Amino acid sequence: MRPNPTLADLPLRPELVGEEPYGAPQLDVPVCLNVNENPYPPSAATLTDMAEAIRAAAYHRYPDREFTRLRGQLADYLGHGLGVENVWAANGSNEVMTHVLGAFGGPGRRVLSFTPTYSMYPEYARNTHTAYVTAPRRADFTLDAELALGAIAEHDPSVVLITTPNNPTGTTTPLAVVEEVLAGTDAIVVVDEAYQEFSRTPGATALSLLPRYGNLVVSRTMSKAFAFAGGRLGYLAAAPAVVDACRIVRLPYHLSAQTQAVASVALAHADEMLARVDDLRAARDDLVASSRELGFEVVDSDANFAL
Ligand code: PMP
Repeated sequence: MRPNPTLADLPLRPELVGEEPYGAPQLDVPVCLNVNENPYPPSAATLTDMAEAIRAAAYHRYPDREFTRLRGQLADYLGHGLGVENVWAANGSNEVMTHVLGAFGGPGRRVLSFTPTYSMYPEYARNTHTAYVTAPRRADFTLDAELALGAIAEHDPSVVLITTPNNPTGTTTPLAVVEEVLAGTDAIVVVDEAYQEFSRTPGATALSLLPRYGNLVVSRTMSKAFAFAGGRLGYLAAAPAVVDACRIVRLPYHLSAQTQAVASVALAHADEMLARVDDLRAARDDLVASSRELGFEVVDSDANFAL
């Protein structure tokens, strides 16, 4: 092959031809709204503890492959009687989803989502050789059990994604609907609760359904309310067998010593990391109300953004 080839010269997988890398613009602007972060940085005291934890980590050794301490802290944060064996984590919930699809998707299988929804899902599917199929939400962007179970019957997916609060609509799917879906399928049902802490009813979480449904995966992230997008830590809660499946497909040592150390400090300061969530909820409600006064049609939002 000639030096300095173009993509067209390389034996690229056919389904990647013409694809562009994920491209939410990274702009240097005073108010950045496009990736739904928490705009408030950690306090000086938390940053000092993070620096100390980074200094104390052992860099000549591989990190704990099972990141047991961090999983224990995540389980404690979630509550609901969860333990280390129920929790898995990776570099953002993006990577967690890649583990889930690596384990439960794959060639000849389908993952189903309800559109409009998070734009990365088709990329996780493509990267794990899983077919991506969708069903449109109702006109008001809600999801009900009849719609979801009808789409499951039509597509026979091995993984179903229910995003609540949903990106980009901010709409919530009631727990009763999630439960009806779980009762009606043996597919893995991932409830992506990336924005759950911003909900008007944060306690109404699919975590409460875990004791009853072995096919339920609740996905969470520290990137949003937890003000830790730069730390890259996403996680899930599920039955121990689901965690074991993720452990099969993860790369060894995927969570670095630094990530484990800093995330652990962030979790130890959970109250402080989450301190601005009430303010952000109020700011969201103000934004929705004033946008309506300006004549815009705005969907009620349980997230830190509004459509
Ligand atoms: N799920 C949803 C619904 C999201 O909106 C996002 C981020 N925009 C993610 C997952 C991924 O977040 P992260 O990889 O930072 O954990």
